[in-house]
Amino acid sequence: MQTLPLVALIGRPNVGKSTMFNRMVGRNRAITHDRPGVTRDRMYGEVRRKGERDFGLVDTGGFALDDAGESVRWDAKGPEGLKGFEAEVYEQARIALDEADVLVLVVDGREGMSPLDARLADHLRGSGKPVLLAVNKVDGEERESELTAEFYALGLEPIAVSAAHGMNMNGLLDAIRERLPEEKEAGEEGEEPGVRTGLRIAMLGRPNAGKSSLVNRFVGGDRMIVSELAGTTRDSVDVVADIPIGHRKRKRGKPVAQPGEPEELWRFTFVDTAGVRRRTKITDEVEQFTVQAALKSARKADVAVLVIDALGGVAQQDKKLISYLDREKIAFLVFLNKMDMVEPAARKKVVQDLESALSICPHVPKINGSALTGYNVDEILTMARSIHEEAGTRISTGVLNRAMSEALSRHQAPVVKRRRAKFYYMTQTDVHPATFVFFVNDPERVKDSYAKYLENQLRKLLGLPHAPLKVLFRPSH
Ligand code: GDP
Ligand code: GDP
Repeated sequence: MQTLPLVALIGRPNVGKSTMFNRMVGRNRAITHDRPGVTRDRMYGEVRRKGERDFGLVDTGGFALDDAGESVRWDAKGPEGLKGFEAEVYEQARIALDEADVLVLVVDGREGMSPLDARLADHLRGSGKPVLLAVNKVDGEERESELTAEFYALGLEPIAVSAAHGMNMNGLLDAIRERLPEEKEAGEEGEEPGVRTGLRIAMLGRPNAGKSSLVNRFVGGDRMIVSELAGTTRDSVDVVADIPIGHRKRKRGKPVAQPGEPEELWRFTFVDTAGVRRRTKITDEVEQFTVQAALKSARKADVAVLVIDALGGVAQQDKKLISYLDREKIAFLVFLNKMDMVEPAARKKVVQDLESALSICPHVPKINGSALTGYNVDEILTMARSIHEEAGTRISTGVLNRAMSEALSRHQAPVVKRRRAKFYYMTQTDVHPATFVFFVNDPERVKDSYAKYLENQLRKLLGLPHAPLKVLFRPSH
């Protein structure tokens, strides 16, 4: 079953979300319970137009749970007063934030802006997901600019609509479709029951490092190769396989599932894997490891695995690639392969060499192992999954700002040009890579060393040990 991208309508009661929902969904309206993650207390429907991208729509508000946990219609003028609604709207928005691909904040153009609108806007923008602002109840075009003007203060471009009269609903739909995530390529569309949508992994490394041996290990035994898709270059293929992996907890070198969390099947795609299956001597010789080609395939993947032959040692090309991967904030790990062949006496040196190559990015995981014996091979995929999850973490503005105060109080910003930078607040603006923005009076006063310190503190305080983090400083007052 292919899952449609999901769009959420969010806003305080009575702004017109259900009216908008009904207009968009039309006759496809349905309350479905089989869509995973869509709970009973919300309306779910599908928006389908001939020749256009289909998507799922949730109306986050308008429904609430009563004391017995039953879904009840929200009474906008209920006895609980605004406080109760606020809490509920927040809770609904929070759930939608987790699940939806595009968030639509709906406000009431006739009533004007309310403080809750502003708080919701902040909250939604902090998610890093695309946010649209629909100013509803703009029923007559002549008043459009008048009714939308004040909403620019929310920091979002207002789209004036009238859900009740159908005005500019196509404009809103177009804006939503533009922001839907890219469609998956054929052959990988799939969430099948029991199989998690897996990860795209790029295997990088010099010829003979052991990339093909590793992929064969991953997909070997009774693991099934789902398909091999012709890659972009001759001899290069994408290998797709469903592989059971556990969580990051190890027992004698093998990842095991955590209690209560069994191993799950994950669909992995090994991208641009040259000559993995039907390899010939010729393709081996033709294969070139260039930093540019490696970067290109890393950019197409969720996580890159740099394989280094421990016998050959860390080469100049490996170092160069590491610095590019780090600079471009690509999620990656390093596998030091062929450790079975390395004499104990020589081990220390190669491990140290790798550590020094990774000194610019000490967060990058290093795994020692052997494609030949299988030692630590499964750990690669478990770790890749863990890095990818980290890189996709969304952290609430509240938690971020507590982390910021903590970091600032542990070690205050140094004096630069006779003054210290003043930090106001921070927010997360994106995932993959996780991107954090600090708002400061004067970004020029934040030295690189202090920026590095803050990044390390965020890693610790937010529990993001291995993913690349993008940390930016923006002026504010
Ligand atoms: P919700 O609580 O956000 O789901 O809001 P509803 O969809 O229930 O709408 C609340 C009220 O606003 C209803 O009385 C609707 O008829 C009215 N309404 C919705 N859209 C419009 C619109 O575009 N123009 C006008 N004038 N009223 C609207
Ligand atoms: P690729 O060019 O990076 O895909 O490297 P291959 O997977 O083709 O491996 C190159 C050679 O190294 C082959 O002869 C493999 O059998 C050998 N090899 C790969 N991994 C290991 C390992 O962990 N230990 C040992 N001893 N040999 C390995």
